[in-house]
Amino acid sequence: MSKKNNRLHGHYCKICGEYKANEKFSGKGHATHICKACSRLSAAEKAAAMDMNRLMSFPMRRLSESEKKWLKAKMKDNCQEVADMAKEVYNICFPHAECNAMKKQLIINILSFKVHTEVYDRYGDMEMADCLFTIDRKSRTLTMTDFHADSGEQSVVLDGGKMAKLLRYIVHTLEIFMWEQDYCLNPDGDDFFTDILLKEGIYVDDLGEKGEALPEEPEGRPSWQVHIEYSNHTVQDISSFDDYLPERPEELYLSFMEYFESDYEIL
Ligand SMILES: [Zn+2]
Repeated sequence: MSKKNNRLHGHYCKICGEYKANEKFSGKGHATHICKACSRLSAAEKAAAMDMNRLMSFPMRRLSESEKKWLKAKMKDNCQEVADMAKEVYNICFPHAECNAMKKQLIINILSFKVHTEVYDRYGDMEMADCLFTIDRKSRTLTMTDFHADSGEQSVVLDGGKMAKLLRYIVHTLEIFMWEQDYCLNPDGDDFFTDILLKEGIYVDDLGEKGEALPEEPEGRPSWQVHIEYSNHTVQDISSFDDYLPERPEELYLSFMEYFESDYEIL
């Protein structure tokens, strides 16, 4: 620590973490490194202020076991402010942790996926897709409506294990709950991922830039749209006006199509 070198003037308060002029300290305060303002705080307030201080200057490097342990304990602190800050710091130190925590709790009840753009089929040929896929977890039904084909609507009922596997794949592998961020989709000015984190109290942050001007209303039909209802009552709605399917939506499209290829039953 080089507190003294950095700040030759003033005196450090270990509670608020500020360097203050000598007159802000009482005689006893000098010795205990607690300024007059902080000495009036209750013991709990002092502890919380010190925790906040430590969290604010938490090292952004690989944490030692004891640092990790301290941080985890603080995430459950009685003081909400400390707990929130600890979660935020934890999420910064372990960026995948929040994503994994999300995955564990997200179960898709209903999903609809509309595609209206050019796609590559599994033979690598370009074709125009204009269809809607829906999944209903309870009835284990996957439905495809092809708006250009005579066959119209087709359904398959998956056995329980296969439906669970498909839904897990969509959440865990395709990380559909991140698509809004991944593909910069912001149809209604809300961000599903941030919303759900805020709602679940996993992550508290003002991500800012909410006040910026709304993007111009895109013209025409969306090239693809997703609507999902999760078992925790959150709803995700996204639509894209880019004239192609990005990687993961394309993977989703192709994996749905597999169920409706004519030779699927034989496989
Ligand atoms: Zn102080």
